[in-house]
Amino acid sequence: CGIVGYIGQEDTKEILLKGLEKLEYRGYDSAGIAVLNENGVQFFKEKGRIAQLRDAVDVSIEAKAGIGHTRWATHGVPNRMNAHPHQSASGRFTLVHNGVIENYELLKREYLSEVEFKSDTDTEVIVQMIEVFVNKGITVEEAFRQTLTKLKGSYAIALLDNQDSERIYVAKNKSPLLVGVGDNFNVVASDAMAMLQVTDQYIELMDKEMVVLTKESITIKNLDGEVIHRNPFTCELDA
Ligand code: GLU
Repeated sequence: CGIVGYIGQEDTKEILLKGLEKLEYRGYDSAGIAVLNENGVQFFKEKGRIAQLRDAVDVSIEAKAGIGHTRWATHGVPNRMNAHPHQSASGRFTLVHNGVIENYELLKREYLSEVEFKSDTDTEVIVQMIEVFVNKGITVEEAFRQTLTKLKGSYAIALLDNQDSERIYVAKNKSPLLVGVGDNFNVVASDAMAMLQVTDQYIELMDKEMVVLTKESITIKNLDGEVIHRNPFTCELDA
């Protein structure tokens, strides 16, 4: 299982699909991608191989940001409904997650008693909480941060907001995640191998860090909201 994300000017869906193919060795039961442009988010997900997902993706779509996922089911059987990405109730937020949210039942009861869930995953609580918090009148970044402070367990997360095609939100705890640095684009991946196709410059993330990516910037913060500076390293594996 693994996640990928891309924001920039090139063919987003192709970069995501190639990235997921590079992560196939990690094992998975389903896969999906979501892409974002000025018209909002479109997503595709399938049980089975990446090749099946590739067949399902609309080839004419142009997007300048996107996220992708291969799932190894832990909560909810492997099927299309439980495959990632998952969306918030209104469809505004779209999220992929690797890992396990141990306190998801508690969070559901405490914050989401009014929300109708669309899947059987632990993951869906994350995206639903972000929307509930945003609807209270705080920024998306702050809603993301507050949600992360309440999660117990492991996560590599990437989030899209269909009202803002300039940003991808990312976070990590006890699941691997790297940010890849490009010239007028940036990426995220569970393993550098997935994105060596576009860059060999990576920044390691530490547990309980969150990142806001635009095509020109990478802002890493801890969950107290303090900015963290860290230099990229060159990854010398063969693509
Ligand atoms: N726990 C999540 C699920 O079952 C994510 C699994 C994964 O890491 O792929 O959907």
